[in-house]
Amino acid sequence: MTERDITGRTRIYGILADPIHHVKTPEVMNALFARHGVDGVLVPFHVTADGLATLLSGLRRMENFGGFIATVPHKTAMLDLCDVAEPEARLIGAVNCVRREPGGSMTGAMLDGIGFVEGLRAAGYDPAERSVYLAGAGGAAKAIAFALAGAGIARIAIANRSRDKAEALGAALAAARPDLPVSVAGFSPEGEDLVINATSLGMRPDDPPPLDLGALQADQVVAEVIMDPERTPLLKAAAARGCRTQPGRPMLASQIELMARHMRAIS
Ligand code: NDP
Repeated sequence: MTERDITGRTRIYGILADPIHHVKTPEVMNALFARHGVDGVLVPFHVTADGLATLLSGLRRMENFGGFIATVPHKTAMLDLCDVAEPEARLIGAVNCVRREPGGSMTGAMLDGIGFVEGLRAAGYDPAERSVYLAGAGGAAKAIAFALAGAGIARIAIANRSRDKAEALGAALAAARPDLPVSVAGFSPEGEDLVINATSLGMRPDDPPPLDLGALQADQVVAEVIMDPERTPLLKAAAARGCRTQPGRPMLASQIELMARHMRAIS
């Protein structure tokens, strides 16, 4: 750990999670603060679901508190605890970054999906006009689906173990973006330009694949949300078939700056 000066003027930011020990955001955000000359520090807050509302009441009264990042398992509950939520967060039903306004009001945003799209763009791939196969219909998948819709994709096919959730996400997307062709897909991503794993499959060595690896084709771009391991079995199979691949980490890296901006730590 490097030494840094914390004074009476330093603003406090947090990351709320349960468990907390694995989070990487403090290192990354504090490095960003240092690069931008921000007199602030982001620290881990270990809070369980039943303590969330009480913690927020306290943070509303903390005048030098700038905001926080919310991660597993707090993203959904956070939506109702915020006083104001950005429209995208309402559509997705979750919040992952909260700004404390002067006076204590809390403003929530959901930046996972925008982070994913920005990560792709930073790697030189623009999803506009592309067809998309999205595996998953949980929190990350919803955020990615709405962000891709906003980025001008041509169409999206959603596949999920629980088909009802894929249908519900498809219906919500179609209602928000009536001009976007949306369908519910099976296990094969054949024929789509951009193939995304937004399920939690791939973290454990014995996980089944999130989609039919045998259907991958060399002209597809294959993207992950899983960050650990960095090269998941899906990415390895995709690379072996000649596909371009996008790991999960850039999704978080791209969000760090967006989060710092949402909390007004940087402008
Ligand atoms: P959710 O619990 O909301 O969703 C999990 C998804 O995975 C659901 O679609 C679920 O299907 C599917 N799934 C889980 N287990 C299985 C299984 N055994 N077989 C088939 N499908 C399965 O989680 P999140 O969406 O919040 O997170 C998903 C992943 O994304 C996590 O690994 C998380 O770490 C990662 N993530 C990465 C980020 C990044 O910046 N790179 C940001 C946010 C998340 P079903 O609906 O049927 O249960």
